[in-house]
Amino acid sequence: MKTRFSEKQLKRFYKLLSIPMIDFDCGKLCAPENGGIPVCCENEGVVPILFNEEYKYHWNNGRFWKRMPPVTKEIKKFIEEAEDYYIFARCSGHEGCERPKRSLCCRTFPLEPHVNSDGEVVGLAYAKARDIDCPLIGRPQSIYNQDYIRNVIQFWQEMFEYYPEEQEMYIEESKKRERRIKKLEQEKKNLNIFRKAK
Ligand code: SF4
Ligand code: SF4
Repeated sequence: MKTRFSEKQLKRFYKLLSIPMIDFDCGKLCAPENGGIPVCCENEGVVPILFNEEYKYHWNNGRFWKRMPPVTKEIKKFIEEAEDYYIFARCSGHEGCERPKRSLCCRTFPLEPHVNSDGEVVGLAYAKARDIDCPLIGRPQSIYNQDYIRNVIQFWQEMFEYYPEEQEMYIEESKKRERRIKKLEQEKKNLNIFRKAK
């Protein structure tokens, strides 16, 4: 398994992303409508992704995450087409969730980096989560802890030094988002981007 950053760097990322995202347990918004399971913690439906470095770390430290065999044809295809630095794994489940063992993905959902053409993370935006009905999506920046937003931006900027492919992917996604923003502005509608403080 090829890794690109050290365990020390992974711990730095986890520390940056250890600040609570918001001041309440957002699982209480979505779990009651989803059989008591927070929607983004539903392993089969959401297909959690770990980077190789995380999987290796957890494998050597208690095996909280385990590789997940594809349960549907769609997931099998998704896994086959994904980058080889992703590992699809399931956690021990929401009832046994241990905050320090959450993945980078758990700690950043439902936000993704908004990146300019120079590769600078200029803010965060909601991820396109087609199959995940997250009630936070669309809510204003004011509900988020601003230190959390700052740290997530810092995390992505550092992460891109190790994973330029991710940077390229988000540059392309952000270009598409900018085009959508222009179109929405013409229609006098907003699309949330949580811009980095100057
Ligand atoms: S991030 Fe969204 S889907 Fe996940 S627990 Fe919070 S409200 Fe539910
Ligand atoms: S580690 Fe915790 S937050 Fe992440 S998917 Fe599992 S239960 Fe949810």
